[in-house]
Amino acid sequence: MGNLTGLPKPSSFERSLSSLKIAIIGAGIIGLAHAYLAAKAGLKVSVFERNPAANGASVRNFGMIWPIGQAAGQMYELALRSREIWLQMLHEASLPYLPTGSLHVAYREDEAAVGREFVQRGKPLGYACEWLDAAKTLEKTSAIRCEGLIGAVWSPTELTVDPRHVIARLPQFLSERYGVTFHFNTAVSEVTTGHLQADVFVVASGDDFQTLFPEIFKDAGLTRCKLQMLRTVEQPQNWALGPALAFGLTFRHYPTFAICDSLAALKARVKDETPEFDKWGIHVMASENSTRQITLGDSHEYGLEVSIFDRAHVNELILEYARQFLRVPDMQIAETWHGVYAKHPDRPFLRLTPQEGVRIVTVTSGIGMTLSFGLAEQTFREMGVL
Ligand SMILES: Cc1cc2nc3c(=O)[nH]c(=O)nc-3n(C[C@H](O)[C@H](O)[C@H](O)COP(=O)(O)OP(=O)(O)OC[C@H]3O[C@@H](n4cnc5c(N)ncnc54)[C@H](O)[C@@H]3O)c2cc1C
Repeated sequence: MGNLTGLPKPSSFERSLSSLKIAIIGAGIIGLAHAYLAAKAGLKVSVFERNPAANGASVRNFGMIWPIGQAAGQMYELALRSREIWLQMLHEASLPYLPTGSLHVAYREDEAAVGREFVQRGKPLGYACEWLDAAKTLEKTSAIRCEGLIGAVWSPTELTVDPRHVIARLPQFLSERYGVTFHFNTAVSEVTTGHLQADVFVVASGDDFQTLFPEIFKDAGLTRCKLQMLRTVEQPQNWALGPALAFGLTFRHYPTFAICDSLAALKARVKDETPEFDKWGIHVMASENSTRQITLGDSHEYGLEVSIFDRAHVNELILEYARQFLRVPDMQIAETWHGVYAKHPDRPFLRLTPQEGVRIVTVTSGIGMTLSFGLAEQTFREMGVL
C-alpha cells in the first residue's frame, strides 16, 4: 500500500514547471492522458497503478474515439479537441490506429428517419455527417448485409485504436520519451497534504469509489454500469471491417440523436417489439482491433453492486442482433468479458477538488476513451498548469 503525501502550497504554482511534481493515481486512459499532457508541459510526473498493468474499463472497451456520440456544443467540441490530441500522441508514440470514421446503419424505416433527420439537423450544429443511401453505404463497407439495407449516417471523425495495445504501450513511451515514472503494483490508499513528494495530484481511479475520497464519491451520486462484450476470432488477412459500425438500436443510446423528433417512434417500436433490448440496455456496435478480430457489444446494467458473473442470454441477444446485419467471414466468438464504468445520472464526467492541488477526474458515462485527452487538457488549464 502506498501512502502519498503532497504539499499543494499556493507557492507551488509559482515555481517553474520543471520542478513541479505531479502524482497521478490510475494508469487507465484518464491517468495516462493526464500523464502525457503534464509531461509535455514539463512537469515531473509519477503514475501509481495498483495492478501489474491497468485492467479497468480502458482495456475492456471498443477502442472507439467517438465524437459522433457527443451532444452538439461543448461536448462535441471537447471530443473533437480530444481526438486532435489523441492523433498527436499516437503519431508521436508511433502507436497504430485506424482512421475508420463510422456508419450508423439503418435497416428499418424508423431508423432511417432518425438518420436522415439527424443529418439535416446535425450539420448546422457542426457534425461532419452525411446520409448515404444503400448503394453508397455499401461502397464504404462490405461488412454488412445488403438485404433490407436502407442507408446509413456516415461520419468521418471516428478513430479506432486497439485499447489493450495502447494502454500497454503508452507507459513505456511516456517513461522513455518524457521520463515519467510508473509505479505498478502500488495501490495508493491516501492522498494528503504535508510533504513534498508531489505538488499536484490527479486521481483517475475509474470506478473505484472506495479507496480514495470515498465520502466525496458518495456525495457525488455515482453508481456503476456493467457492460458485456464479445470478440470474434481473427478474420482473414485480406478482410477489413472498414468504418466502425453502429446499428439501429444505437440511435437510442447516444445523446447526439436526442435532437431528432423521429427518435420517439423508433424507441416506441423497440420497446414494443423487443423489450429485452431495453431491459438489458442493449445496442450493438462493432470495431476492429490490430489482429482483425471484431469486438462486439454491448449491454448496460446499472447499480453499485456489479455481479462478477456474466449473463449468457445477454451475450446471445447481442450476437443474434449482430448476425442479422453483420457480414463477417468468421463470427466464431473467441472471447467474452465485461467492463465497468462510473455512472452519473446526468453528468458525462466529474472533475472534483477534494483538496487544494488535488483533482479527481472520473468519466461518468461510456465515453472516457473519446474524452480522455481533452479532459486532461481542461484539468491542467483549470489548475493553471497549462
Ligand atoms: C465495455 C466498455 C466499452 C467501452 N467502450 C468505449 C469506447 O469505445 N469509447 C469510449 O470513448 N469509451 C468507452 N468506454 C468507456 C471508457 O472505457 C472509460 O470511460 C474509460 O476507460 C475510463 O478510464 P479511467 O482511466 O477513468 O478508468 P480505468 O480504465 O478503470 O482505470 C482506472 C485505473 O486506476 C487504478 N486504480 C484505482 N484506484 C487506485 C488506487 N487507489 N491506487 C492505484 N491505482 C488505482 C485501477 O487499477 C485502474 O487501472 C467503454 C467502457 C466499457 C466498460
